[in-house]
Amino acid sequence: MPIPAIGPTTRAYSILSVSLWPLLYGGGLLGAYFAFRSERPVLWFNVVYLSVVLAIGVFERLMPYARRWHHSDGEAFNDVAHTLMSKGLVQVVAAVGASFPLLVATFAQPVLATHNGLWPTQWPLFAQVVLGLFLAEFGLYWAHRLAHERLTFWRFHALHHSVVRLWVVNTGRFHIVDSLFKAILSQVPLYLLGAPLPVFLWIGAVTAFTGLLTHCNIDVRTGWLDYVFSTPRLHRWHHSRKLSEGNTNYCENVILWDQVFGTYFNPPRPSSVDIGISGTIARGFLRQLAQPFSAAGLREILGGRPAEAQE
Ligand SMILES: [Zn+2]
Repeated sequence: MPIPAIGPTTRAYSILSVSLWPLLYGGGLLGAYFAFRSERPVLWFNVVYLSVVLAIGVFERLMPYARRWHHSDGEAFNDVAHTLMSKGLVQVVAAVGASFPLLVATFAQPVLATHNGLWPTQWPLFAQVVLGLFLAEFGLYWAHRLAHERLTFWRFHALHHSVVRLWVVNTGRFHIVDSLFKAILSQVPLYLLGAPLPVFLWIGAVTAFTGLLTHCNIDVRTGWLDYVFSTPRLHRWHHSRKLSEGNTNYCENVILWDQVFGTYFNPPRPSSVDIGISGTIARGFLRQLAQPFSAAGLREILGGRPAEAQE
């Protein structure tokens, strides 16, 4: 049964548009808090995650930012397949990473004698997570910026930007190499500093919910939050077809490093609905995985433009 939209001039619409982002974000994090304290943290975290996906899906029908993004682009299957593959990979990396400090301690302790003393484990967990978020964000920022500014990485990241609609389902549409690159740059420094497992769990949870919301097609008004967090409004600019608008707002959770390095972009007008790339992405999941590895595939990704166009 189709869900009727809420009239944009109603009071309910105004209240929801300013409260939905904090509610869904806060609700997800509160759910994660209880999941992590439960006997089965992975199961319950996934229940919370899917509940937030479902809630976003409902509000995308009730109060869409762009009605034209309701039209199918025929990519939903590929979106989910890339999401599952990248999530699986990141979990393997995290599992290996969880034992990494132990490996360092065992084999490289004489070289990294100060290793265990660097992370402030005596701080409250909340403060450790905030510190971890800012440090991880530094890696996420540069991984993402390089993915836009260097052809070596853009060939993989183009898959994510090839979508012509934003909705919750294509949040995790990343080429597996793109995901791996980002995971390495954001997580390895924390491992080397000796951050404990709960810090990684919480950074993963925060990133998961921010990511779901940045792609949502809900008409949320985020106001001052746009100066602190990576909000849907900032991320829509990032997906703009115009390079001058799209090569901005690289941060994934907190927007600090964009402010510091001068790539923050938030002009006072409605954010872009004309999103996508000028090149062509292959049809089909396996072809999309293989495309960046061949010269012909790369030419398609670049849309016939000279390679320098993305350098
Ligand atoms: Zn990007």
